[in-house]
Amino acid sequence: MLRFLHGSEDQEPESDSKVDPATSDAKQAEEISLETSDGPEESSESGLPELDEPALALTNESVLLKEKIEGLERRIGYLERIVKVSQILNSTLSLEPLLQIIIQSATELTNTEACSIMLLEKNTGELRFAEATGNSDELKKMSVPLENSIGGWVIRKNKPLLIRDAKNDPRWHGGVDESIAFETHSILGVPLKVRDRTIGVLELVNKKDEQNFTEDDIQIAITLSAQAAIAIENARLLDELQEAYRDLSELDQIKNDFVSIASHELRTPLAVILGYATFLRDNVSGHASEQLEIVLSSAVRLRALIDDMVNLRHIQTEEIQLQRSIFSLRQLVLDVVKEFSEIVSGKQQILTTKFEPADDPLNIDADRQKLYLILANLVSNAIKFTPAQGRIHINVEFKDHKYWVSVIDTGIGIPKSDYERIFDQFYQVEPSLTRKYQGMGIGLSIARGMIEVHQGRMWIESVVGKGSKFSFVLPSAPDVAQS
Ligand code: ADP
Repeated sequence: MLRFLHGSEDQEPESDSKVDPATSDAKQAEEISLETSDGPEESSESGLPELDEPALALTNESVLLKEKIEGLERRIGYLERIVKVSQILNSTLSLEPLLQIIIQSATELTNTEACSIMLLEKNTGELRFAEATGNSDELKKMSVPLENSIGGWVIRKNKPLLIRDAKNDPRWHGGVDESIAFETHSILGVPLKVRDRTIGVLELVNKKDEQNFTEDDIQIAITLSAQAAIAIENARLLDELQEAYRDLSELDQIKNDFVSIASHELRTPLAVILGYATFLRDNVSGHASEQLEIVLSSAVRLRALIDDMVNLRHIQTEEIQLQRSIFSLRQLVLDVVKEFSEIVSGKQQILTTKFEPADDPLNIDADRQKLYLILANLVSNAIKFTPAQGRIHINVEFKDHKYWVSVIDTGIGIPKSDYERIFDQFYQVEPSLTRKYQGMGIGLSIARGMIEVHQGRMWIESVVGKGSKFSFVLPSAPDVAQS
């Protein structure tokens, strides 16, 4: 006996509108079929042999046994079909085809005229038809009241409901029948539950051949709904994820276009500023020359920022291409040191280098411009985040067919919790509004991206208040290392 058929806390429907399939037509149908299939048990008056008591008991037992076996076989048949359906449901991730499969399977398995799936809308909380047999376009425009409808009842009470005579049930919402010219007689509604949430309701309408819903139908509907609810939830989540991804891609595209246009538009006037400022600096003397030097260094800085933006875009869109050549890594490091020597001495810092093997040019096959940019970025950060009179050291080593490069400083350090985040775009350990250091927070993400394009990797070790060590390793082809 199914407990849910006797919902106590709700207003009891009319007695004839409730069905207990175990005692009513369902059971009767089984009994009738057993009688006919076994053949009539004839009495002595019909001329056939009369059965004594033990023989009669045996016959009854075998009838009961047969009845049980048939019931079990039928259930196994249903279960097999439900397993097949659930396999299909699990492999369907698109919501609309998924709902159609559920509708079709539910009507076939229960031999009903129609089926509908109503889902609670996440934003509005409204109950709406998501799919239905036939007229679904018309239905999909409709919402169903939660208070005065069978679907609403099933959702609110979170339990199945079987109504034999819908028209005479106060919970029936006749509006749907009217708008799609359909006649509802009986309804079996089952909640679609995902963990402790009800996301909608599955309704089966009108048993075919004027039969009534049986206990098997109810079990099938419950089992199918449990499978369907999870599949629907997964498909919805995937839809949401795909939509969010689409939005994100669109935004990303807008940002990339903006960076492209802005950097292009900024570069042209900047080149003019740089050209004239250089010319003027070389042709004036005294105070004006010093001022022009400041104009020039600011313009150079601006160009570096624009270059960073362009590089970032290239890394993100994976448009980056390596211009490989064989060059001395040692010379590259010395060039970077030279570029920053003035700033270093301005801050009274000490910048040292060490190469291993000491007298080796350390030839490497890589993109020189990109390696220069990576190292310049690390050195510039080391200078920036190290107080005056601090020390910076660059260590370069060729070991195990790899180039190991570290930039070590005695600066402010980085907390362990930020080790990975500093390589994210626009991440800065110091909050941007209260920052005392300049920068956009993209240098490290570009540097790591470029190292990875070279098949290498970059990482950091640091102690807050003591200093940081940024390292990267690059693979080498054996012939390059020896050349
Ligand atoms: P930016 O330097 O322009 O802010 P980066 O991507 O180069 O951007 O660095 C990201 C953040 O990592 C910096 O804002 C800083 O908080 C931290 N950082 C980078 N290098 C160092 C360093 N040598 N010492 C301390 N903090 C650093």
